Amino acid sequence: MNQSQQSRQTVLNQIEQACQRVQRDPATVQLLAVSKTHPASSLREMYAVGQRCFGENYLQEALEKIEELKELEIEWHFIGHVQRNKTKHLAEKFDWVHGVDRLIIAERLSGQRLESQAPLNICLQVNIDGQDSKDGCQPEEVAELVQDISQLPHIRLRGLMVIPAPENHAAFADAKALFDQVKSQHAQPQDWDTLSMGMSADLDAAIAAGSTMVRVGTALFGARDYSAKS
Ligand SMILES: *Cc1c(COP(=O)(O)O)cnc(C)c1O
Repeated sequence: MNQSQQSRQTVLNQIEQACQRVQRDPATVQLLAVSKTHPASSLREMYAVGQRCFGENYLQEALEKIEELKELEIEWHFIGHVQRNKTKHLAEKFDWVHGVDRLIIAERLSGQRLESQAPLNICLQVNIDGQDSKDGCQPEEVAELVQDISQLPHIRLRGLMVIPAPENHAAFADAKALFDQVKSQHAQPQDWDTLSMGMSADLDAAIAAGSTMVRVGTALFGARDYSAKS
């Protein structure tokens, strides 16, 4: 086994065990490999051992990797902060965008998605634990945003994405409750099936609370070196 295979297998085992503890089917939790700051060659290695979904945070860096790896059948997820003036590239180059937190962003993504492409999958990012950061809508805004975004033609609204403060595992349960609340609404979105939460340090707690997609970087690729990013 090479290093990529080993670390991926370790994470998959961890997901499986976390599922077993709470009697969930491991097939209901997807592993998103977060590859920001890592070179295309690392993604290629991870792809070679079976990984297909990759998450990136920085648009320019992501676009370079998408171009370099275009012959591979990668599902590209954008998990960074979405800037209003960068939506065109996101709409055209990605399969998923997790950080949508305003209607205008969803409207732009829908408008800029090409007719020839399948609808863009998005998650609504929620500031679930009242952090000061400006990312994520407020929990009270979710119902109305879901209703409005569901109307957009080139978007598939798949669920919620949260990034609680480290160690705040209670926030995962709050996110799950909000997710289920939307699910039980009369006019729930058709493809409401994704709760994107959990990273290297807290994926067990996220899975116990109901995560359907864990976003894992460090445990797969090792520590990130931001200084190498110019
Ligand atoms: C970087 C990042 C991750 C991965 O974090 P690790 O701790 O390296 O697993 C997950 N989600 C988001 C939104 C990130 O920015």
